[in-house]
Amino acid sequence: ARTLRIGLIPGDGIGREVIPAGRRILEALPSSLNLKFSFVDLDAGFETFQKTGSALPDKTVDTLKKECDGALFGAVSSPSTKVAGYSSPIVALRKKLDLYANVRPVKTTAGSSNGKPIDLVIVRENTEDLYVKEERTVEGPNGKVAEAIKRISERASHRISTIAGEIALRRQGIREAAPGTSSHSQPMVTITHKSNVLSQTDGLFRETARQALAAQKFSSVHVEEQIVDSMVYKLFRQPEYYDVIVAPNLYGDILSDGAAALVGSLGLVPSANVGDGFAIGEPCHGSAPDIEGQGIANPIATLRSVALMLEFLNEPDAAAKIYTAVDANLDEAKFLSPDMGGKATTQQVLDDVLKRL
Ligand code: NAD
Ligand code: MN
Repeated sequence: ARTLRIGLIPGDGIGREVIPAGRRILEALPSSLNLKFSFVDLDAGFETFQKTGSALPDKTVDTLKKECDGALFGAVSSPSTKVAGYSSPIVALRKKLDLYANVRPVKTTAGSSNGKPIDLVIVRENTEDLYVKEERTVEGPNGKVAEAIKRISERASHRISTIAGEIALRRQGIREAAPGTSSHSQPMVTITHKSNVLSQTDGLFRETARQALAAQKFSSVHVEEQIVDSMVYKLFRQPEYYDVIVAPNLYGDILSDGAAALVGSLGLVPSANVGDGFAIGEPCHGSAPDIEGQGIANPIATLRSVALMLEFLNEPDAAAKIYTAVDANLDEAKFLSPDMGGKATTQQVLDDVLKRL
């Protein structure tokens, strides 16, 4: 049996209520999968910062690098006013582990969609574009002028497009393993950019993405492009059309929050931060101080993040088990948490999903 060592980083607030659910589902996977897990508890977040002076202790990073195959990250609280020395641990982790792709699937199930089923994933480049944060302000004759560098490299564009193609192929595999759970019949990648205006930066992204996706191994993947503004329009008009969307950092950031709004509760939406040979599953929501400590946080975003992590650790069968169990819970709609209009606690939602594994 393969043993995977998983770092557990609950963070703050409801992170501490949902990450244990993530651990529990890994432990409950059927033994026929031939998969075992060991766990290590790791600190990060605002409370860690208040206790130790660092939001991301070296020990957390070292343990992840040296011992772990993957990790689950809950959520962290950010102070509403700037606190000297505090910066987001997840942003730092992405840098330190070179997690260059942020992957965010957005999916409705038969029971939870109002209209047509949505089953798409946004693959956002995570290391460059305007997020290199090279800004400057100069004083001109007509007042201040601020500018920022938008950096697009061939290397980063190539690897993000390659992973987008691989995700498209894997999703097709998962669909074939669980027929009837998706409306897509063929894997598709939509490249989004604004190269009609930014011919060099976005032009390089577009060209490199085209090239990467023209590789032989992606011959079954249908490749399209969409200028980012019309992408937003089409995403909201016709979300059911899309499968995998690949985008530079800033467009990906905006598109992925927008797409999350298509499926109702934040408590449903997972993400993963992915590098070569490492993945961190992370629910999209924050620490939710308004419901913290009540035992009613929706664990589904975390359970889906666990499955997503497993996909990137090359365990698609284990991932498929979790997706199917979660979808069945949502479709039956008997044990739904309050954010979904139900009355179930975190534990009751989890128990119902576990029962369906
Ligand atoms: P939030 O996601 O924590 O909460 C927004 C709303 O959604 C709240 O009403 C909350 O109760 C609800 N909600 C979120 N997750 C839920 C779940 N699993 N089940 C049921 N309801 C859920 O966003 P916020 O209120 O803007 O931010 C709270 C704190 O979290 C802030 O300190 C913010 O900086 C931080 N934050 C962290 C992350 C992260 O760690 N990735 C992301 C967003 C916000
Ligand atoms: Mn964002």
